Amino acid sequence: MRNSSSTSKYIIEVDRSKCISVANCVAIAGDVFELDGEQIAIIKEPDPKTKTYTSDDDTIMLAARSCPTQAIIIKDRETGQQLFP
Ligand code: SF4
Repeated sequence: MRNSSSTSKYIIEVDRSKCISVANCVAIAGDVFELDGEQIAIIKEPDPKTKTYTSDDDTIMLAARSCPTQAIIIKDRETGQQLFP
């Protein structure tokens, strides 16, 4: 599961096999992450008008770092380099 907004420098992915439904990511960046019907994190679409998230990149990275199982993967959108974990 991956997504990226037009202004974020990140590609955001969730490794569903690692998610244990703690929802730290939702608490920190609820406009980016939500739990689906299986209580596994998914990435929401950015605002359709602005194509951006309210959460900035620092907040998105904080959400990734808050995940106890490192289920959230952050990559540089330009280079594809994995930045976290
Ligand atoms: S913080 Fe990690 S384990 Fe918790 S819901 Fe988000 S992705 Fe899943």
